Amino acid sequence: MEDIYDWLKTGRVHLIDGYCPPLYPKIDFDADRMVQIIKETGGNIVRMQPIGYYAYYPTKHFPVHPDLGGRDLLQEMIDASKPEGIKVIPYIPVGHPFLPLDFEEEPYNSWAARNRAGERKRGGWHYGYFRNFPICLNSPYREAIRAIVREITANYDVDGIYFDGPNQPNPRWMFGACYCKYCRKAYYEATGKEIPNIGERCDWNDPEVRRYYEWVVEEVTSGTLRGLCDIVKQIKDIPVLFNNGLWLSPNVAMWVGNNRYELADGFLFEAAETLLQKMHNVMLGRSTGKYVW
Ligand SMILES: [Zn+2]
Repeated sequence: MEDIYDWLKTGRVHLIDGYCPPLYPKIDFDADRMVQIIKETGGNIVRMQPIGYYAYYPTKHFPVHPDLGGRDLLQEMIDASKPEGIKVIPYIPVGHPFLPLDFEEEPYNSWAARNRAGERKRGGWHYGYFRNFPICLNSPYREAIRAIVREITANYDVDGIYFDGPNQPNPRWMFGACYCKYCRKAYYEATGKEIPNIGERCDWNDPEVRRYYEWVVEEVTSGTLRGLCDIVKQIKDIPVLFNNGLWLSPNVAMWVGNNRYELADGFLFEAAETLLQKMHNVMLGRSTGKYVW
C-alpha cells in the first residue's frame, strides 16, 4: 500500500470520549486546556467524539447535549489543535452507543432495535452510567449517520475519520436479532424469507439462522460501513480508521466477519482481553499493510 498517511505511524493519540468528563454527564470542556495537556504529555493526535451519548456539535441529525448551548466543541478542538501541529480525528460510533432509554419522540423511537413482539430492546448500562436502548442500522438511523459523517467530513478540517462499529444486535450483544419493520422488510426483499425465530438459544446448525447472520454481516454492518467509507473518500482524501479489536474477539468475530479490513486504511486496536489478543490485533494491521494507531 502506498504510504500516504505515514504520520499515523508516529501518532501519539489522546482520546476525548463523549462518554465521560469533560463531555458527559456535564459539559466542562476547555479546548486550550486539552491542548496544553496533549503538549505536556507528548501527544500529536487527538481523537475526539463529536457524537457520544449526545452530539457535541450543532447538528439536526442526532440529539445534542442539553448543555451545548451554541457551542461547537469539535470546532473548538480543531481551532486549538491545528496551530500546535496536533491532528484531529473524530471518533464516530455507528450503531453505538445507543440512545437514552427514556427517549420516546421521533425520529429516535423509529431508530430502535426491536424484539419479535415489536417492543424496543433495552440496553444495559454503558461506561458513563448511561441507560440506553440499542439502535437498528436498517432503520432511518442509517440515513442520519450517513448525514453526520457527510457533514463532519465536509465541514470540519479533520485529518481522518475513526469509526467504531457498525454494530447491529446479534446473539452476543443486545439479545439476538432485530425484528423491527425495517429489518423485516429488508430481509424479505433480500431473501424472500421472514427473519427466523432465533430465540434465546441461537442454533448455529440451523441454516436459516446462518443465512440470517450472513445477511447481517454482509449487507447490514459491512454494507453500512462501505457506504460511510465512500462518503468520506468522495469528500476528502483522509484515512478511514476502524476498530479491529472487536472483529477479532473470539466471541464476536463470527457475527461481524473479519474481512472488513479491506475497507480500512488502518486500525485502532482495543477491547482485547489478553496480551496475546492485543498482539493478534496489531499483527492484523501489520500483515495487511494497514496503519495501526
Ligand atoms: Zn431492525
